[in-house]
Order: sequence, then structure tokens, then C-alpha cells
Amino acid sequence: MSSGTGPAVVDPTLRRRIEPQDFEVFFDPRQLRKETCLLYEISWGGRNSVWRHTSQNTNKHVEINFIEKMTSERYFAPSTRCSIIWFLSWSPCGECSKAIIEFLSRHPNVTLFIYVARLYHHMDQRNRQGLRDLINRGVSIQIMTEQEYCYCWRNFVNYAPSNEVYWPRYPNLWMKLYILELHCIILGLPPCLKILRRHQHELTFFTLTLQGCHYQRIPPHILWASGLI
Ligand SMILES: [Zn+2]
Repeated sequence: MSSGTGPAVVDPTLRRRIEPQDFEVFFDPRQLRKETCLLYEISWGGRNSVWRHTSQNTNKHVEINFIEKMTSERYFAPSTRCSIIWFLSWSPCGECSKAIIEFLSRHPNVTLFIYVARLYHHMDQRNRQGLRDLINRGVSIQIMTEQEYCYCWRNFVNYAPSNEVYWPRYPNLWMKLYILELHCIILGLPPCLKILRRHQHELTFFTLTLQGCHYQRIPPHILWASGLI
């Protein structure tokens, strides 16, 4: 990913497609909004230009919509070399992970980097396995941190030009909790993070239950970063 700072207006290929309030709700790690939003950029091989767009789920998950759009484009041949970066409000489910792997198998010259704001139904073993399969296939999956939120705000959000210094600062704790849980998934450990939603007040709570295997296998700096251990 290129620099996350600097005014977006210097980017001649900029395509801002999402309103500020939508970004703030979709990508808030504490908000469990049902719909998924995808912000993506594509760098075509041999060219410096970056193509940016946004998408949301319809009656299909947003990852499937992306793949169908990509593969229906006449100019996208399997031999085309390109790098794709996704910023997803929810991580891919197990079924989408399978579809992504199939897509990458048919387009071996595509490199995919995925940043996610939240882990989708992370207790579900099919979703956990799907993420592991993606990583084993060479896909990079990371939790969005402040750097990515700032980058997305400046490059995908239709914010007021008079407000260049603002971008949403979500609590770091939630990002660290998801980073911790993603490590559990990658290492094949049982979940340690449980998320609870109080619908009455739109509040999201969590509990952290660590077992011996977590302490033994998760890198200590990831473990302690939550500040709760
Ligand atoms: Zn899905």
C-alpha cells in the first residue's frame, strides 16, 4: 500500500464514492452493521495508475459481486498481472473464501491484499477455515488499523475539502482484539474473543477467554497489546 497520508487531491485517478457517514458506520469496529462495504483499488501491471472503486453486498456477498464484475470485464485476461487491495468492513465468509481462491486459481497473476475492519462470525469454523485457506493461498489478511482508516478516508471518502485534518479515530482496543483473534484463527486455536450485542442501545460488548494454548502460541506482544491480560 502506498503512503496513507497527504491530501487525496494530488491523486489524479481518485474516485471518491462513499459518503463520510456511511464510511464511519460501515467501518466502525464496534458497529455490527449487517451489510458489507468493500473499498478496493487495482494496480495494473506495468502501469503506475491505481483504479479505485467501492461496492456493497446485494443479494450476493460483496466479494462475489467483485469477482463477477472483474471477470466480466473484457480487458481482464487471465494473463493480466495486477495487484488488488480490498478494504472490507467484514472479513470474507467461508463460501466467499472458496470463491476467491477459485478466482485466484484462474488468475495466477493477481495478488490480493485484504484489510478487514471486523471478523465475520468468527466463531464459525467454516469462516475460520476459509481465512486460513486464503492465507495458505498467499492472500494477505490484516485487521485495519489507524493507518488504513486514515488511508481509506483520504482516498475513498467524499469528505468536505475544508476538513482535511479529520478522519475517524476508532478505539484502538477493538483493532487489537480483532488482531488477537485473527492470530487464533491463523494458528488454528479456539476462539478467545466473544462479541455480544445489546440491540436496545446499539452497544457492543466483548469478553476475552484465553486458554493455555493461547498463552503458549500467540506472540506475547500481540497478547499483551490488548491491555487486558
Ligand atoms: Zn461471503
